[in-house]
Amino acid sequence: MALWQTTTLVFGSVSAGGQLEKDNPALRPCKLCGENKNLCNSHIIPKAFFRRIKDGDPQLYRVTVDSDPIARSSNGDEIQRLLCFECEQFFQRTYEDYGTELFINQKNICENEDFVFITRFQYEKYYLFIISILWRASVSTLKNFREIHSLISANKILNPCLRLQTLNISLKNNIRLDDFIKISATRIIDPQDNIPQSVIDGVMSGLSFGRGNSPEEGVHYYFMVDGYIILINLYPPNSPTLKNWHPKCAIKDRTYLKIPKIPYYEIKEVKEGMAALAQARAPEPKRGRGKQ
Ligand SMILES: [Zn+2]
Repeated sequence: MALWQTTTLVFGSVSAGGQLEKDNPALRPCKLCGENKNLCNSHIIPKAFFRRIKDGDPQLYRVTVDSDPIARSSNGDEIQRLLCFECEQFFQRTYEDYGTELFINQKNICENEDFVFITRFQYEKYYLFIISILWRASVSTLKNFREIHSLISANKILNPCLRLQTLNISLKNNIRLDDFIKISATRIIDPQDNIPQSVIDGVMSGLSFGRGNSPEEGVHYYFMVDGYIILINLYPPNSPTLKNWHPKCAIKDRTYLKIPKIPYYEIKEVKEGMAALAQARAPEPKRGRGKQ
């Protein structure tokens, strides 16, 4: 159990560490407003998440959750010149200040054995916050997000929604982003308390990618932060799976969130990530026993 107590984990389906562009920031078009400007080194996953998990324990581990999960030390965050200063500030004020605090603002949170409830929930703001992370990954050229780059074709839909702070793609046809981008959230716990909740809350995963068995089942992206897994499903129009999508972890358009609790070992990626991390943190086996 001591193994978990000073550990922070970053895991995902990638293995490279942080990438900071050191080139000269000549004028280039901002990915959001399109104007030629000096661009900031933008974080794909909001900086506030990393700042929090690095607080008190600067050692991060990145775990590759593939067929053979491995944990390596890492500085965690991916960075690229994407946005001008004004757009970076706009994202932070409009979406990130709210989205990165949602799960830790204790005055709005209560829970029972099965669910966490978050009151004063701002559905549209939070939805667009999650979409802004996906959008950043899609317009970047970082190889860690290569599975998400195909979403760049959706930029002409996502970009105006993010700028205008709306889920409405077309008022005329009443089409919305949340008609086919479905977001759900689950609270990760250990019912046996072998892993303290504070440790689970300190685990963070980068944006990872998965695909259904058929095109109708869509693609999905997920990340874990503050002890919650956020899952984003994208479906093609008229998908039968989309029509029947009503999981109890769905984020709904109402003024509170009701998030089911799930044991960490019921989610394969989390279970394997935890196991790989425990192995990485295990003390080196002693050598030369019996020669003292
Ligand atoms: Zn801009």
